[in-house]
Amino acid sequence: MFGGGFESFFGGSGGGGGDGGFGAPKNVDNSKFYNVLGVSKDASAADIKKAFRKLALKNHPDKGGDPELFKDITVAYETLSDPEKRELYDKYGEEGLQQGGGPSAGADIFSQMFGGGMRQPRGPPRGEDLTHPLKVSLEDLYNGKTVKLAVNRDVICSGCSGKGGADGAEKTCDTCNGRGMRIQHRQIAPGMVQQVQSVCPDCRGQGKTIRESDRCKACKGNKVTKERKVLEVHIEKGMRNNQRITFKGEADQAPGTIAGDIVFVVQEKEHALFQRKGANLIMEKKISLVEALCGFETIIEHLDGRHLHVKTKPGEVIKPNQFKAIHGEGMPQHGNPFVKGQLVILFKVDFPTQLTAEQARVLATVFSPPAPLQNISHAEECFLSEFDAEAAQHEAQREAYDSDDDRGQPRGVQCQQQ
Ligand SMILES: [Zn+2]
Ligand SMILES: [Zn+2]
Repeated sequence: MFGGGFESFFGGSGGGGGDGGFGAPKNVDNSKFYNVLGVSKDASAADIKKAFRKLALKNHPDKGGDPELFKDITVAYETLSDPEKRELYDKYGEEGLQQGGGPSAGADIFSQMFGGGMRQPRGPPRGEDLTHPLKVSLEDLYNGKTVKLAVNRDVICSGCSGKGGADGAEKTCDTCNGRGMRIQHRQIAPGMVQQVQSVCPDCRGQGKTIRESDRCKACKGNKVTKERKVLEVHIEKGMRNNQRITFKGEADQAPGTIAGDIVFVVQEKEHALFQRKGANLIMEKKISLVEALCGFETIIEHLDGRHLHVKTKPGEVIKPNQFKAIHGEGMPQHGNPFVKGQLVILFKVDFPTQLTAEQARVLATVFSPPAPLQNISHAEECFLSEFDAEAAQHEAQREAYDSDDDRGQPRGVQCQQQ
């Protein structure tokens, strides 16, 4: 596990870590599979495939070949054709592969190669991926940024190549006989015995122990040691919320497993001015009625620090809640940052609450006044008052409840006489 968690520092020097981890293994039998296929240890993937093809055709049990030999051939090929498994095998021999549930039967790989099923061969178990949220500002998603993050992870001990001690030092645990669990009997009353099962304290559930004197000095028999590693996380222009940045095989190492990935998940931070909707940036702009009618201009500071002088065309009127856009000033497209979305501005128009009689008169001379109403003597006079939003919402809810049997007739807010 990551002891200290992630430590973030920006622009610092690489530092720490050292080149621990995988040491060149000693005394590991890792030639058998190569011998079975009759290829050298530095054989290319193509050579291995070619050799297997030839041997498999010749030794297939359906054609009278020896089933045991055929199995050896397929197991060897299954391991050496998978780069991850081959790496494990080269470093730890067959032992490095053992915990993987064993190689699958030869038939699978055979059918995979010569047509038929395309099942992936099973390999050693993969360690857990380590997922970590990475908060990123909108500025950084716009401009791109490299962040250095230090991780503390387990690596296979270089002193013992992950064996915990010298060859053969690991013995079945006497306390639990290799089960990893300890069963204790506790008398809870005369004649009544309770059976309690717990993780074996001596081998910590491993089923195997190494005598203290035989333990590797570097890892104290733990098979792994801690390594501090600095990862350079490249936040690319236009990356989106929840996008994953994967470091393959950089999670904790453990003997007999393939290390999982470290995955950073981009978490876009809220921005004070811009809201991101896909490729577009949306902002709200409050303007006065005069600006809405007579023209408007402003300076907007963009995410890269540029200043945009934004203005209406001569004579253009902006309506309340109207959207306007500046093309090519939105978010860059991930992978093609020269293509950008729109910068969308939602205009809120701040109307005056009152006008003096004089202001109204002047405005009426500018705009054509409305035509006078006809037949007003028969109509009741209603002055508009404040809209009661709460009451209206209450009504709307009641309507929703009643809508099954009370369709049609909406209950509106009524005219209030004053
Ligand atoms: Zn060690
Ligand atoms: Zn034990």
